[in-house]
Amino acid sequence: MTTRWAFLLVLITIAESIYVYFSVFDEQYAQRMLVLTITITLIFSHNLKALYQVKLKQTLDRLLRLSLLLLSAVIALRTLYLFVVLQPTNQILSNNLVAAGTQLIILCLSLLMAGLLFHSAYQDIFQQLQKERNLDPLTGLLNRRALEERLKRLKQHSRSRQNAIILCDLDFFKQINDQYGHKVGDVALQHVTEIISKAVRKYDEICRMGGEEFLILLQDTPLDIAIQVAERIRSGIETTPLIQSGQVISMTGSFGISFFQHFDEFSQAAQQADLLLYQAKNLGRNQLHWQQ
Ligand code: GH3
Ligand code: MG
Ligand code: MG
Repeated sequence: MTTRWAFLLVLITIAESIYVYFSVFDEQYAQRMLVLTITITLIFSHNLKALYQVKLKQTLDRLLRLSLLLLSAVIALRTLYLFVVLQPTNQILSNNLVAAGTQLIILCLSLLMAGLLFHSAYQDIFQQLQKERNLDPLTGLLNRRALEERLKRLKQHSRSRQNAIILCDLDFFKQINDQYGHKVGDVALQHVTEIISKAVRKYDEICRMGGEEFLILLQDTPLDIAIQVAERIRSGIETTPLIQSGQVISMTGSFGISFFQHFDEFSQAAQQADLLLYQAKNLGRNQLHWQQ
């Protein structure tokens, strides 16, 4: 949703001028209040359509929107009542129960909104911190801690009986750093991340286990599909070199693939994948080894 800043600037300038007129040249309390309430209502509601079209996922945001709408409605109705029905003089306005009552409602709604806004900002910060805690800063992939947290949840809730782990370690990655520098090494890791992300489904989990080692968790995936996915990653890395300042940097990776039924068996399966990866390294790298 966008705020129309130009509209708001013009609105506030006009309102200020009228307000000053009724304060200095023709002292009218009622007119001043009228200008003030109309301005506030317009500020709150000038983008109501867009506000309503936005899809808000969080209950808190929806509550905030509701209180904003309520506040706008109360202010508008109050203005209508005061100036159309009551047609007040300065004195009536200060003694009228509806005027005082609605003023109180506006105050309460404003306080509610301030509270909700504060809570919403707090939640945003909390989510951001949570994200930073769980994601690897270089690649944006899950880190080990996040994987462990997810596994805890999957142990309790997952009903999938066919799960696969693909463990991938880039070959001779130290040479890339030595030859092109650590910064290019970092870009190479991001490049491989992109290749892996494109090769898997949206709901597969990719974790950077550390250094140049990645773990891909495939749920609900039979043997042949997991091998196909790993092969897609392997050939993707091999056939998509990184181009940096005109230099073509080729890479390969070695893979261990293992399977398990229940998430209680995850660590055993991960150890198995590690062994298979080790075999792939020893038997020449740039290849897949899987649990037979
Ligand atoms: P192998 O084929 O046996 O896996 O050889 P390798 O050189 O890939 O393995 P080794 O474990 O000897 O070296 C891994 C290298 O990965 C060493 C380290 O400098 C590099 N590395 C680890 N993390 C990062 C990183 O975040 N950025 C960069 N640029 N390099 C990293
Ligand atoms: Mg390596
Ligand atoms: Mg390694």
